[in-house]
Amino acid sequence: MTALQRIQAALAAREAESLLRVRRIVDTPCAPHVRIDGRELLAFCSNDYLGLASAPELAAALTEGARRWGSGAGASHLVSGHYAVHEALERRLAEFVGTEAALSFSTGYMVNAGIAAALTGRGDAIFADRLNHASLVDGALLSRASHHRYPHGDTAALARLLEASAAPTKLILTDSVFSMDGDVAPLAELFALAERHDAWLIVDDAHGFGVLGPQGRGALAEAGIAHWRVLTIGTLGKAAGVSGAFVAGHRDVIAHLMQHMRTYIFTTAASPAIAHALLTAIDLIEAGDARRATLRALEQQLADGLADTRWQRMDSRTPIQPVLIGDNQAALDVARALWTRGLWVPAIRPPTVPAGTARLRVSLTAAHTAADVSRLIETLGDLQAPA
Ligand code: PMP
Repeated sequence: MTALQRIQAALAAREAESLLRVRRIVDTPCAPHVRIDGRELLAFCSNDYLGLASAPELAAALTEGARRWGSGAGASHLVSGHYAVHEALERRLAEFVGTEAALSFSTGYMVNAGIAAALTGRGDAIFADRLNHASLVDGALLSRASHHRYPHGDTAALARLLEASAAPTKLILTDSVFSMDGDVAPLAELFALAERHDAWLIVDDAHGFGVLGPQGRGALAEAGIAHWRVLTIGTLGKAAGVSGAFVAGHRDVIAHLMQHMRTYIFTTAASPAIAHALLTAIDLIEAGDARRATLRALEQQLADGLADTRWQRMDSRTPIQPVLIGDNQAALDVARALWTRGLWVPAIRPPTVPAGTARLRVSLTAAHTAADVSRLIETLGDLQAPA
């Protein structure tokens, strides 16, 4: 077989096992009601938690940003691509999450791929929750530090690993809100362990920023944790409705990251028009208590609606509301049955989640209505829950 034939055989095998990843072509903006192949669908898939991705204020800000700044940065930040609007955005982000400084990136993947290597190296040790996002796993591998994965949320296991480690630099790495489970990491305990073992604590708040904490300032603000040893990562393509990401913390730590993060140094800066739009997005998040209240009400409605049914909603107080199915094929069958009835809810299977825990990943947004959530509850009610 040639190299091409080998990848063709691998693709065919994936398809035969129903593991081929496919993408749908969406014909309308990101919103609960979308059109695909001429069909209207009610979607519970996006991370657009506050419903800002198609907000007219942000489309206007993006247009205004492009008029003021053009379309491209033209270079990386450290060469000539760092504009006054990037600087203003970083200051605003730092102030918003309650830190001294912040560094902005084009995506969260870039922050997560580069951050561990800037703080650790060979001989150091990273301690990571087993359910962390794939981008944090990739970043830990790039760092060349030893990578210890503790059972999900198990701070006792983490404490044992930290005690047994003689590494000069230790780093604890966790999602705040776990993207496939919707649960929140035990941040206070993790911070206490970081203090006891002189470790860095890096919290990926991709799904908490804009959603949790006072005015949506994030999971660390909610937990009341602010310290030089803590770094918070936020993404700006989810609740903020645009794209991009940032890391925020002590000014000297951020200065160090600027010197050492390869995923910051060797890439073109995000468009200044995007940075301009993000300034408006942060204002909308800050003033977004009504949107967050809508979200909480919808979460409660879904929890109540599924409470006395055979559908097993996983315990979550965030907009990520998974329904556990277990079997891979059963999860696919339920997702297909919903699709046939005009509802788009993704089935998540291994290796994204552990074997035997395939699920529907329902995600709610402030743009959904009570009628939308009722329709989901009723449609699930009409379907047979897998035994
Ligand atoms: N961290 C987590 C927990 C995520 O869920 C994601 C994206 N799904 C990322 C990081 C990556 O962020 P971005 O999409 O901005 O690359």
